[in-house]
Amino acid sequence: MKREDKCSFCGRPREDVGMLVAGVNGFICDSCIKQAYEIVEEEFKATQAKSMKKLSLKKPTEIKEYLDQYVIGQDEAKKFLSVAVYNHYKRLMQKSGKGADADDDVEIEKSNIILVGETGTGKTLLARTIARLIDVPFTIVDATVLTEAGYVGEDIESILTRLLQVADYNVEAAERGIVFIDEIDKIARKGDNPSITRDVSGEGVQQGLLKLLEGSIVNVPPQGGRKHPDQKMIPVNTKNILFICGGAFDGIKTKIANRLNSRVVGYNSDKDKDKIDFNNLLQYVAPQDLKSFGLIPEIIGRLPILTHLDPLDRDALRRILTEPKNSLIKQYVKMFAIDGIELVIGEDVLNFIVDKAVEFKVGARGLRSICETILMDKMYEAPSKSMKKLEITLDYATERMSHISAAKLKQG
Ligand code: ADP
Repeated sequence: MKREDKCSFCGRPREDVGMLVAGVNGFICDSCIKQAYEIVEEEFKATQAKSMKKLSLKKPTEIKEYLDQYVIGQDEAKKFLSVAVYNHYKRLMQKSGKGADADDDVEIEKSNIILVGETGTGKTLLARTIARLIDVPFTIVDATVLTEAGYVGEDIESILTRLLQVADYNVEAAERGIVFIDEIDKIARKGDNPSITRDVSGEGVQQGLLKLLEGSIVNVPPQGGRKHPDQKMIPVNTKNILFICGGAFDGIKTKIANRLNSRVVGYNSDKDKDKIDFNNLLQYVAPQDLKSFGLIPEIIGRLPILTHLDPLDRDALRRILTEPKNSLIKQYVKMFAIDGIELVIGEDVLNFIVDKAVEFKVGARGLRSICETILMDKMYEAPSKSMKKLEITLDYATERMSHISAAKLKQG
């Protein structure tokens, strides 16, 4: 048997090589090991370089232009997000040594963002739209599931489980990802009294979240859920993960107004008060308002970019109906077109839909329910009828809407 001891790769016998390592069905010699290692390393470097090259640096103006195609208005939030994502990429490139002066001592620190905006004004839409544009792992998580953490909810680490999953468990990729934490306001302490039991749990969750935002090595349960003693944890470094938080912060407007009012009391007060736009108080949101709302100062400190979303007025709602690349009306037109039917909805009907959304106070989210109410019967009947064109008249729309209540629309 001795004479069969030769390298299965190069065929050289044992006496001609430095060392022969035995496997199940063969051998490999030291020089083949060395060569194979070099091939693997070269291949690995090539894939890494390719993935870094894929991080094509989209300019902030390009990112905003893209967002403009899908999201109406919200210019300030779009600008802030575009710059944050651009800087995130720059930081990643600097880390990989691609940027200029890669080895000087200047380290670009990340700037997590917090978006404050009423519900249904486009926070999640902005996040989802950005996610389509970028090529780093991106996930949206809901902070509400964390409210009761430590009790029956999910542990804070589960936020990173989702990121690992979208990164196909590639830890390195996940460590450069972006996480959008929705409904961050739901983990705020309620009021300034920390002694109420529920508030304490909120603060506990905030402390946990702080660990993530600060940048630390977190042991993540790969399958999510509660920690399980038998589950093998994956350590993930959050130092380079960008966190974008969003929340409606119901009631924060009163706090902003109080602050503004107390500031302008006294000298020149009336003049200053005149300048305040009370219809859009969120534009004045400042870190101290988040603190009075119940976020702990440490969390606020780790979310240095604070921006707001504007409330959607009539004009914005009207634009939302038809302008975005995949606007509601475009979607209905396409749906009917699949059946060979040309759907025509006049300007008067579009204005009527907006009127109803304003009247019922259902915002952009209600637009879909209103359209569904108006078009449901037609979507039911039209495909069985041989028609080429379907025109929705104002009379028809008014008649359809006369059956519906605001409560029903809000559910939709
Ligand atoms: P939020 O996260 O702020 O509560 P969403 O982003 O989920 O609100 O918005 C709900 C829906 O309303 C979106 O899916 C979209 O159809 C519509 N919408 C809201 N704001 C805008 C906007 N600014 N531009 C276009 N559509 C919008």
